[in-house]
Amino acid sequence: MRRWLTGGERFFLARIPADLTAPSLLPGWTRAHVVAHLVGSCEALGNLLHWARTGVETPMYASVEVRAADIERRAALPAAELTAAATTGSERLLAAVDAMPAGAWDATVRTIQGRPVPASEVLWMRSRETWIHAVDLAAGAGFGDLPAELTDALLTEIAARNDANDQCPGVTLAPSDRDRTWEFGPGDRQAVRGTAGELCGWMLGRPSTVDGPVLPRWL
Ligand code: ZN
Repeated sequence: MRRWLTGGERFFLARIPADLTAPSLLPGWTRAHVVAHLVGSCEALGNLLHWARTGVETPMYASVEVRAADIERRAALPAAELTAAATTGSERLLAAVDAMPAGAWDATVRTIQGRPVPASEVLWMRSRETWIHAVDLAAGAGFGDLPAELTDALLTEIAARNDANDQCPGVTLAPSDRDRTWEFGPGDRQAVRGTAGELCGWMLGRPSTVDGPVLPRWL
């Protein structure tokens, strides 16, 4: 997990382009919004580590409104300043991870959705953010560039989430570059094909050439 975390920080920071005004893969968001969101995520997840370490309840964000306003404010910064903030935020978060006492990783904290999780989940939450949003920058990286095990972990997580949603159609994912499948939803499942990376992008609701049914929204 620590490997995915550090690798994801590097992967994301290395893919921030000079031009942040172009659209990202996320509807209504420029690349600057994506970078701004990642800067906010460093602080938010740092808050959870602080909570776990001290026992003092420190939510990720003061409110969803504050979170959204912070993204807009940061997205309006000059590109060089915003990029520097992404680097600083990343360094601070990794330092906070290194400074965590071993026993604190089991402490229970709550995500923005109110879901109780062990503090160790922060490593996965942030890894997910860096790798996926690096692709969202629409600056050269694709879902096929993610580490295979991380892609598989994402497919497993989203499949489980979909399976728990009774609005979700039945699907069997049969990646052409894996010797296993992922299944979710009710029986008589539709086989959906593509590489694992392509299927991952499709499962995340990103623009995709994969031919499959409409899935519930991810996050
Ligand atoms: Zn995000």
